[in-house]
Amino acid sequence: MLQLTDVHVYYGHVHALRGVSLKIDDGKIVSLLGGNGAGKSTTLKMISRLVQPKSGSYQIDGKTMLKESPSRIVKRGIIHCPENRRVFPTFTVEENLKIGAYKRKDKKIKSDFEKVFSYFPRLKERLNQKAGTLSGGEQQMLAIGRSLMGDPNVLLLDEPSLGIAPNLVIEIFEIIKEINKDGTSVLLVEQNANVALAISDYGYVLENGHVALEGNSKNLKNNDEVRRLYLGG
Ligand code: ATP
Repeated sequence: MLQLTDVHVYYGHVHALRGVSLKIDDGKIVSLLGGNGAGKSTTLKMISRLVQPKSGSYQIDGKTMLKESPSRIVKRGIIHCPENRRVFPTFTVEENLKIGAYKRKDKKIKSDFEKVFSYFPRLKERLNQKAGTLSGGEQQMLAIGRSLMGDPNVLLLDEPSLGIAPNLVIEIFEIIKEINKDGTSVLLVEQNANVALAISDYGYVLENGHVALEGNSKNLKNNDEVRRLYLGG
């Protein structure tokens, strides 16, 4: 289990996280919802240790993670799939996937390639294509595939639906569900609350750097405030 308790993060004078507490139980999909600037991406960056909290605790299975470097966090299987995909545009699909496994030395790498292709057959068809020439949806598939090559226990997904054609959003979210069924926990940051709550077990709503609401996804979907603010009515 991954757990944050009362985490505060500052960027200079900007108090971006104001006491965030959340947990991701093993095997679950957890949504992190909220409007622009609520602190969603900062929460993911804090978990992957790209930003340092001023106070609070961060534990995985009861062990503190606050002294761990980002690369140690990756080795523990916490893999961050960043906002806007950030694929390496001049590298091929195959090279991008290999970069995802950069820290690994185990023998499962080859079978993980096949696994990525079973989730995303389009990537296999485009193995030698430069990533910058893929469509937005295909780049998102590649970014998730690259994260899977890091052998995640917990996948941190930042806005996988952003700027993607609606039919591909559905396809990608179906695959996120499959990835989870195969044993990977997921923390899903989304502005598209409809699709996020449809596939997640539990959800948190961030507002101004703190958790304003939390609950089972089903309950959140029926919550009047969530419906009004994030589900279009
Ligand atoms: P969005 O959906 O727009 O990406 P978000 O919920 O992910 O929003 P964050 O990106 O975490 O929000 O930003 C939280 C707050 O921290 C915002 O007020 C933002 O302006 C501020 N912030 C984020 N990154 C930095 C930075 N590098 N330097 C200064 N302030 C930052």
